[in-house]
Order: sequence, then structure tokens, then C-alpha cells
Amino acid sequence: MKRRVVLLGAPGAGKGTQARLLAARQGLAHLSTGDLLRAAVAAGTPAGRAAKGHMDAGRLVPDDAVFGVLFERLDARTTAFVLDGFPRNMAQAAELDRRLAALRLPLEAVVDIDVPDARLVARLAGRRACPGCGRNYHVEALPPRKAGTCDDCGRALQQRDDDRPEVVTERLAVYHRQTEPLVAHYASRGLLARVNGDRDVEAVQRDLLACLQGAAAGAGRQA
Ligand code: AMP
Repeated sequence: MKRRVVLLGAPGAGKGTQARLLAARQGLAHLSTGDLLRAAVAAGTPAGRAAKGHMDAGRLVPDDAVFGVLFERLDARTTAFVLDGFPRNMAQAAELDRRLAALRLPLEAVVDIDVPDARLVARLAGRRACPGCGRNYHVEALPPRKAGTCDDCGRALQQRDDDRPEVVTERLAVYHRQTEPLVAHYASRGLLARVNGDRDVEAVQRDLLACLQGAAAGAGRQA
């Protein structure tokens, strides 16, 4: 199975939910720059202070602040990982390549989770997140067992500030302008697979896993 993976997809496509499941079941490190930045904001670190205004406005945080929080988590021991929310522009993709080449841990697969924009808006409006562990829910499509409470850690769920409708519009525009070109970039390098993300969580996870395993089987036959 491919074990160094980037998940691409618009805000609300399910990257976080899928990355968390994949990481837990397959023993990969889950590296979410959104989670790392939110933790930096909560802790009031310099990176967090640099990030906050951009996050609240739905824009990308400057690359250097993102590199800071991510690359302190990624070293030669991180041999298997799923990146969620990174890279988000071409400069970040180039920096990721440089770092992974230096570590001799090249990327093995990029999976784009595809969901139409109209569905994303409804998903983000109903999304609730755990401020403790970061797990995501949806008030209708993916409710917790006890309303308003995280199944895993029991904290009260919250709506993210940047899931408010006026910020969502900007986040989707930023995705199409800056992040979506990465789909073609990774396709041209032969790394890209696509899954239809407009289905229930387990169906998407099955397809995601099939992408990662299918490619590995092919590599095995060549060896
Ligand atoms: P997410 O949880 O992935 O939706 O990220 C939430 C917010 O964090 C984004 O809207 C950005 O402001 C910021 N962010 C997360 N990852 C990145 C990244 N790779 N580059 C720049 N900003 C990011």
C-alpha cells in the first residue's frame, strides 16, 4: 500500500474525516496544517499570531508560517503519513518535494476528493468540530451519538468561525484559484487518483483505500 499520501479537495470535501480514519486504521501519521495552525492560534505562538487574521478571513496563511508548523512534525522517522490540507499552492508543493527529497521519503500518491461546490456549502454550514481532538461531525449527515458532544473526547462541539457563510465563499474561491491547479500538477507526475467524495464516509474511505492499494499492487508486479 502507498503510505506517503496527500489528500487534495475543497474545504468541506471530507479531507479531515478521511485522513483521520485512514491514519488510525493504516497506522499513518495524520498531518493537518489546519489543525496545527488552529493549535498554534490557541496557544498564542508567533506562527499562530501570524496565521489568525488570514484564517478568520478565509485566506491562505503565508507559506513560512505553514512550513514552520508542518515541518517540525515531519522528519526521517515520519516514513508513513497522510497530509491533509497541505500543499495548498504550487510554492508549497515545491517546498514539500524539496523536504521529502532531502529525507528520501518521496510522495507515493495524491488523492483528490471530489465534491461539487453546491454540496460543499451545505456540508460546511452543518459542520461541527471538536475543539479538543479536531474530529468533524455534521448535524444531519454525520451526527455524534449524543447531540453536540464529541464521541471521542466528550467536549462540546463548536462551529468553526471560518465555516460561517461569508467566509466559506472566500475559502472556495481561494481553493479554485490557488489549490485546484495542484490536481493537474500531480496528474502530470502520474501520482493522482480521484475519488467521488459525495457519498457516505465509509464508501469514500473504501475507494480511497482501493486507490492506495491498487497502485501498490501494480508496483509489486513490476518488482
Ligand atoms: P482547514 O482546516 O484545512 O480547512 O484549514 C483552515 C484554514 O487554515 C485555511 O482556511 C487557511 O487559512 C489555513 N491553512 C490550512 N492549511 C494551510 C496551508 N497549507 N496553507 C495556507 N493556509 C492554510
